[in-house]
Amino acid sequence: MRRRLLVIGNWKLNGNKNTITNLTITLVNTFCNISKCSVAIAPPVMYLDIVKRYLLNNTHIQLCAQNVDIHLSGAFTGEISAEMLQDCNVRYVLIGHSERRIHHKENDAYIAKKFFILKKVGLIPILCIGENKREYDSGCTQSICINQIKTVIKLLGIEALKNSVIAYEPIWSIGSGVSASPESVQMVHKSIRDYIASYDVSVADEIIIQYGGSVTPENVTQFFDQKDIDGVLVGAASLNANSFAMIVQTAEKHKKLYLS
Ligand code: PEP
Repeated sequence: MRRRLLVIGNWKLNGNKNTITNLTITLVNTFCNISKCSVAIAPPVMYLDIVKRYLLNNTHIQLCAQNVDIHLSGAFTGEISAEMLQDCNVRYVLIGHSERRIHHKENDAYIAKKFFILKKVGLIPILCIGENKREYDSGCTQSICINQIKTVIKLLGIEALKNSVIAYEPIWSIGSGVSASPESVQMVHKSIRDYIASYDVSVADEIIIQYGGSVTPENVTQFFDQKDIDGVLVGAASLNANSFAMIVQTAEKHKKLYLS
């Protein structure tokens, strides 16, 4: 088993042509020697094409989209299709982010349809899952996460999780400055991997399970030190070139990369 650490920066609804261009140029220059971990950035969809132009000669940074529609084309005003994202060299797509679940009322069944359409065109879904504070306080974290994954497996089968990514993001931790403890995240990740292994051991062994929630350059090593944490999904800290670069450099140098 060998899983590469995957670091993704989610820029959410931030930036403009100028700041996005500057941030991208800085990261392209900073990451020219990155080879051991995988890195992706998720700009607002408006700017995917601008970012793409700067990444063209840089194979070290991949493009990630923040959302996708469940349809490939047609009368769906305002939506973006998986084929359009593919046309812009996008490789990963976030689905099920708690901000979409909360503000856009997206449920597990709808998110599973997004998962399906991404697999159909060959893009890599990053399935975001996680519990809210009330669920955390009542000790249901693991069952909430498993149920969110179960909907995808029921609709598409366990094979769909091959070459897919899961991002465990406790909702109470996102943007709060309070990260979950690395030990508790490890327990959740292990329960997710064990659950997937109950269907297929090799899929469980290979799937990348990232953690997201107030990750910073200061706390990221403790997450990478955990056996079942295979990367991080970074929000706020990814908007700062220095912070994001430090997180990526930490991944690049982490000893886990040499384990097999
Ligand atoms: C996120 O939005 O996916 C996220 C993890 O944000 P932050 O790092 O700001 O908590």
